Amino acid sequence: MTRNSRIIEPLLNILEMEREQGYQDRAVAGGLDKLLQRWDAELRPILDEAGSYSVLTPVQREAWVAEALKRLEPLDGGRPSGSRAKKTPRRAPPRRARPSPVTLDDEAARLRGVGDRVAARLKKLGIESVRDLVYHFPHRHNDYAKVRTISELVMGEVQTVVVTVWEVTAKPLRPTLWSVQAVLGDSTGNARATWIRHARPRQRPYLANSLKPGDEIVVSGRVSAYHGTPIFRDDPEFEPVKGQEELVHTGRLVPVYPATEGLPQRTIRRTVKNALDAAISQVAEYLPDESLHRTGVMGLRNAIAQYHYPDSDADKSAARHRLAFDELMMLQMTVLSRKRDWQAEESGIAIDAKRGRIDGFLDSLPFELTGAQSRVLDEVLADMRHDRPMNRLLQGDVGSGKTVVAAAALLMAVLDGYQAALMAPTEILAEQHFLTLSGLMSASPGGSAVAEGRVPGLSRPVRVGLLLGSLSARVRRTMHEMIAEGEIDMLIGTHALIQGAVEIPRLAVAVVDEQHRFGVMQRAAMRDKGERPHLLSMSATPIPRSLALTLYGELDVSTIDQMPPGRLRTRTRWVEPTKRDAAYGFVRKQVEAGRQAFIVCPLIEGSEAIQSRAATEEHERLSAHVFPDLRLGLLHGRMGLHEKEQVMEDFKDGELDVLVSTPVIEVGIDVPNAAVMLVDGADRFGLAQLHQFRGRVNRGMHQSYCLLLADDPGEEAKNRLKLVERIDDGFKLADEDLKLRGAGDYLGTRQSGLPNLSVASITDQDIAALARQEAASILDADPGLAEPGHAPLAERLAKAAVELPGEMS
Ligand code: ADP
Ligand code: MG
Repeated sequence: MTRNSRIIEPLLNILEMEREQGYQDRAVAGGLDKLLQRWDAELRPILDEAGSYSVLTPVQREAWVAEALKRLEPLDGGRPSGSRAKKTPRRAPPRRARPSPVTLDDEAARLRGVGDRVAARLKKLGIESVRDLVYHFPHRHNDYAKVRTISELVMGEVQTVVVTVWEVTAKPLRPTLWSVQAVLGDSTGNARATWIRHARPRQRPYLANSLKPGDEIVVSGRVSAYHGTPIFRDDPEFEPVKGQEELVHTGRLVPVYPATEGLPQRTIRRTVKNALDAAISQVAEYLPDESLHRTGVMGLRNAIAQYHYPDSDADKSAARHRLAFDELMMLQMTVLSRKRDWQAEESGIAIDAKRGRIDGFLDSLPFELTGAQSRVLDEVLADMRHDRPMNRLLQGDVGSGKTVVAAAALLMAVLDGYQAALMAPTEILAEQHFLTLSGLMSASPGGSAVAEGRVPGLSRPVRVGLLLGSLSARVRRTMHEMIAEGEIDMLIGTHALIQGAVEIPRLAVAVVDEQHRFGVMQRAAMRDKGERPHLLSMSATPIPRSLALTLYGELDVSTIDQMPPGRLRTRTRWVEPTKRDAAYGFVRKQVEAGRQAFIVCPLIEGSEAIQSRAATEEHERLSAHVFPDLRLGLLHGRMGLHEKEQVMEDFKDGELDVLVSTPVIEVGIDVPNAAVMLVDGADRFGLAQLHQFRGRVNRGMHQSYCLLLADDPGEEAKNRLKLVERIDDGFKLADEDLKLRGAGDYLGTRQSGLPNLSVASITDQDIAALARQEAASILDADPGLAEPGHAPLAERLAKAAVELPGEMS
């Protein structure tokens, strides 16, 4: 018997035991690596590079063991392979009747170590099934290959150390809020860490008692200096080393998961690992082979394994790339098939939209269209000539002149004998559009909800109508009747337009202004008011092109990328809290020079009523104490329509110097003589909103100013305000801000209704483009996903049920 064959049998037994026990590296005391090293010389020719078993993930261990068994078994004294288990019954642990194997769809509670308590806490993280665990991805990894010693720590960077706890102290900040501090050390020096913890009254926080001198812990976080000692401030992440020595000391990337109260990192990590061990082999690839080839993305099972336990940074990013691709691909499949359905619908309304028909109207404008307006108008008119309904997004920075393009499209429909409608998100904006459009049609409403005007090219009068929820029931009913009878040509309104009672039988063109304020469903409802009308969505919230592609992938996009001539740059300043009076002084000077100003009150959480009351009080304060000699107006959401209309008109006519307002004036309002926008509490608004406010001025030829008052902005808010100061192009601003914080923050999460992306971020523009391309290729080849090879994809798509922006609102 050769030495070689002497080790085969024991090793086979060990590997089988290892398999039985779920690859925990417990089959040999001290770990398999020791054995492999000892037998290195003999094993080398058989197993190639044995490497290290302990660093492998469970999934990788499974593969490794399977491979090793395959190679070893034929060498085992000539016994036929595959028969070992039967021949070594003594090795098999005593089993109860084994239940069916755990599947992805099973409840997490079927896994080892998941009792009721853990299951309940997992639920808090949205985890119910084994599949959920497999897809519970780490938000980052601790790179134990790059663990620093204390002496190596660099100030300002996020780093990880393995240290011993020397001392733990707790100081109450308030009766229920504590600062827990620890002195930590390794062989190179000392460091500190501080955590803020809540506790019951008169009790020390749990952490202060559970963290004990002598404990070995891993600490990760940003390091700053405190009296020359490195300190992990701001609640650094930490974990005991105990129980995970193998991870800590193997120098690999170890996942750190989103955790929750009462569910320590270790438990989550172990549970996810168990789930991976039990079920990852069941994860099925759903991308067809040709897609895998075309895109070069990593296989799904591998990607999941590597995203939990990456072998290297490169593997981690390839894994992330694949998983992000999946999410964006689902999104793109959804929007693209929707677009196809929409375009495959039979006939829409082909309008005789020759540009020549509105020349008279365009000539009557007090200005010439900019090149960009003209180009975009042509794109819109070209769509309208098709009998396939238009579905176009018109983007243009605030003040770029979208309204007149919309007006031209609406008018074109009217000239051809159809009805046209424009929907706006607020009553104030709808009201203003009504006045503007009436004006463009040479009509004057004079307080009525219907105005009659004349336009070149139409022998009969044009009827412009206004429909708002706040109109009296009687007026609203009359409006409904007139609209249904076709007596209103051009209809302006709010959500009131899409109420069930409204019918617009000859609707041919519908415009949705500030469309990001509406959901997909509301846009669809607008469309359903007629027989497949053309739809034009407009937005001033500048969304970078690629982002628009992801969010509004079903739309064609036109962009007005040019401002009307003669506009000066709005000078934007963040005003220090101590300079509030100087800001008011500046407003006064501008008024003396003949300009007008907006003052926007701080955003207050709560109802419209609370907001309105605050604005009313601010109006009183400013009138009494700051600008007693100026003419101040007040605008808020709780005012009646007539009141609002009056104030807007007075402001427009120059009979008010300063308009004090709630944030309702964020969108749309257009008063060219207004040159100052003072935003109070500017730190409470998102960048997109601040840019919108700024867009209320600089609408004429005057130098305009935007003053941002913030009483006590945090560091992040300060950076935001500085960005608005520096950048006045909405698209560049959007790009910068996306880089800083991601799209949810930029758009304001609630408004934007971003689709649920957990791995992908909205800034993954390259991946989004790849996903879009791939989705298009697949749909081109097989629009209904009917081919057998596309069945898994179709199924996955049905499960994903992608929520598009706005649908949940
Ligand atoms: P927005 O794109 O923000 O909706 P508006 O349509 O309200 O912008 O236009 C802003 C202002 O610019 C309005 O006062 C409008 O009359 C004016 N305007 C629009 N187009 C032009 C142009 N080509 N030349 C000069 N002024 C224009
Ligand atoms: Mg507008």
